[in-house]
Amino acid sequence: MSIFEILAQIGTVEVHTYYDQETGLRAAVGIHDTRLGPAIGGTRMYAYSSGDEAILDVVRLARGMTAKAALAGLPHGGGKAVIWADASRPPQHGDRKTFMQAFGRFVDRLGGRYITCEDSGTSTADMDAIRDVTSHVLGVSAARGGSGDPSPFTALGVRRGIEACAEVVLGRKELVGMHVAIQGVGAVGYHLARELASEGCRLTIADVNTARVKEIAHELGAAVVPVEQIFDVACDVFAPCALGGAINDATINRLRCKVVAGAANNQLASREIGQVLQARGIFYAPDYAINAGGLINVAQEYRGYDADASRQKTLGIRETIAELARRSLRTNTPPGEMADAMVAEILAKAGPSPLQAMGHGHNGGTTAAIFASPAESRSRGTAV
Ligand code: NAD
Repeated sequence: MSIFEILAQIGTVEVHTYYDQETGLRAAVGIHDTRLGPAIGGTRMYAYSSGDEAILDVVRLARGMTAKAALAGLPHGGGKAVIWADASRPPQHGDRKTFMQAFGRFVDRLGGRYITCEDSGTSTADMDAIRDVTSHVLGVSAARGGSGDPSPFTALGVRRGIEACAEVVLGRKELVGMHVAIQGVGAVGYHLARELASEGCRLTIADVNTARVKEIAHELGAAVVPVEQIFDVACDVFAPCALGGAINDATINRLRCKVVAGAANNQLASREIGQVLQARGIFYAPDYAINAGGLINVAQEYRGYDADASRQKTLGIRETIAELARRSLRTNTPPGEMADAMVAEILAKAGPSPLQAMGHGHNGGTTAAIFASPAESRSRGTAV
């Protein structure tokens, strides 16, 4: 599939690509939508098998960020960056800083239309290196005004989402006595387990890290099952907090829960899985709607970090999930499709992007910019 076919299908507005002669950096930024504000999204560093695979990943991920930011009520659009890592020559130590600064200069040339932050393969130290050369980066270290570990905020948002599901789907006013099975008690899963335990939930947990899972079970009075058995636990809520694709053809018919609500990204292996969940009467809280607490927290840095403001905004995930659940149940629409419809409504209300109208974000001639319409391309003069 050509890049233009991909863009036509995904609806991404722009892809900027960059090669740095000095460091060998190969990077791409996808900007999907800026109607709500500057595009925000992490930088993923990964040893893709080809440049095309990297581009496909960046446009898909950028689209996901538009939806996530919109449903979180953030004044941001969706964007993402990928760095196509050379597995045989990973940048090390001092080199890595230079490498990330080269990437930061690329981000800087986009003029603030894209704001980057951490994603898989990149770290807080990388964000600090990027901050050396551009202000359009978040998730820097605390010493430089950063917001710190996002996982407690992500967990708080998931707990609020579970509260919404309890009320709207299960008809329960409180979480006390509810049984939640958590797959993966790492950074987010652990904080979620603590949140739920303090609300009086009964917990069953599983993690490949058997020593850690025992420790957490002891601390919170949770039951433990082997990782393969977590899907079979009869419970109210199943909370995937490990890897993507947990709900797939092999696991879907084993679920004995009424709600799936967790932190993991891309929980459903395919769109069809969402329809099967719906047919089985299991409500699925879309991952990008319920796990936005970490994004909300890091985005707060853009306005000067304030943990209380992040917390307040994260609490709002409850109402988003409640609204989604009400509309989904009323119209018998799978929650994933309802979330897409809600995103479309939010974006339609926003009207044209002020950033696009301003002609902001000249790319310095280093990149290929692909704009939504030929008219827009002509007026900007940067499209090729
Ligand atoms: P993490 O690596 O700290 O935790 C993942 C845990 O899952 C680990 O303890 C790991 O041992 C466990 N695990 C791995 N495979 C497993 C399996 N098959 N069965 C059971 N447990 C298994 O990661 P995290 O930061 O807690 O993120 C968890 C998920 O949430 C990821 O999908 C991540 O992309 C997503 N997410 C995280 C954040 C955040 O703020 N950290 C925000 C949004 C989304």
